[in-house]
Amino acid sequence: MIIVMQQNASSECIDAVIQEIDRMGFKSHPIFGVERTVVGVIGDKTRDTLEHFEQFEGVERVLPILQPYKFAGREVQQEETIIEVGNVRIGGARLCIIAGPCSVESESQIMSIALAVKESGADMLRGGAFKPRTSPYSFKGLREEGLRLLAAAREATGLPVVTEVMDARHVEAVYEYADMLQVGARNMQNFTLLEELGKIDKPVFLKRGPSATIEDLLMAAEYIIAEGNRKILLCERGLRTFETATRNTFDVSAIPVLQRLSHLPVFADPSHGGGHWWLVDPLSRAAVAAGADGLMVEVHDNPKTALSDGPQSLTPKNFTKLVENLKSVAAAVGRSM
Ligand code: PEP
Ligand code: MN
Repeated sequence: MIIVMQQNASSECIDAVIQEIDRMGFKSHPIFGVERTVVGVIGDKTRDTLEHFEQFEGVERVLPILQPYKFAGREVQQEETIIEVGNVRIGGARLCIIAGPCSVESESQIMSIALAVKESGADMLRGGAFKPRTSPYSFKGLREEGLRLLAAAREATGLPVVTEVMDARHVEAVYEYADMLQVGARNMQNFTLLEELGKIDKPVFLKRGPSATIEDLLMAAEYIIAEGNRKILLCERGLRTFETATRNTFDVSAIPVLQRLSHLPVFADPSHGGGHWWLVDPLSRAAVAAGADGLMVEVHDNPKTALSDGPQSLTPKNFTKLVENLKSVAAAVGRSM
């Protein structure tokens, strides 16, 4: 349920409500808005206590939350969530571009790609150190060494880094090096992992599973929020369908639907979305036109020799062209780059 405080409610009144929520064994999620404070309450059977909270001083009204995703949805919070990663502000008017290789392969590879994407205007660096691969015999990433190389690339470029965490047991190690932790599509419903990520204070980049509904994605975000971490970015990266001309079927409608339902920033990954480097430009333009808050794009200095996802990776030169091409589309929908 949501407890809407009166506009002039004192901090003592708000504290008293929060203490009562805790005493009853529920979890409180206060949202201090510009005009008033709203306190979300999580727990089973909160509906039974609606009237109880209406009697507290400073409370204007108490409402049940109808959607199953209580805090990821717009019922509790209408304003957009803005997430800061280093000096990058995500979810506002400025489009956020995350770029980098699918996998970190070596020091020279990640350094040269990081410098190139920075030069072209990327806001953040991506690179996988722990790689989820369909075959156990494929390259599975440099693991801790990959994390160290990403941190070195951040030092060299100033770009904050995002990298995937595949397992709840690795959260601590990835947390130490990354500025934002990525949950891969295949792990979107790894609930143990989601719960661990709910306990940290760094943003989580949550990718939609290849066969997950939009509600499944929002419920996955809810798992993280329920443990206390509200810094979540949602990402559409294509669905598994009957189509074979593309690696996945990019669901552009997910972008406005997610934005209608949720206040969390929405990203698109046109690289996994289409699976071909030449599809990255049109899919990126479609995503930005549809209102995406940002893009995650795979870039490799030599896609032919890439240890993963070469066919969908842009060369640094094509990434530069993409950024240029996006400027007019971004401007048309009121976004800066
Ligand atoms: C990736 O970002 O390299 C990746 C593995 O993506 P996804 O989880 O969307 O397949
Ligand atoms: Mn990849």
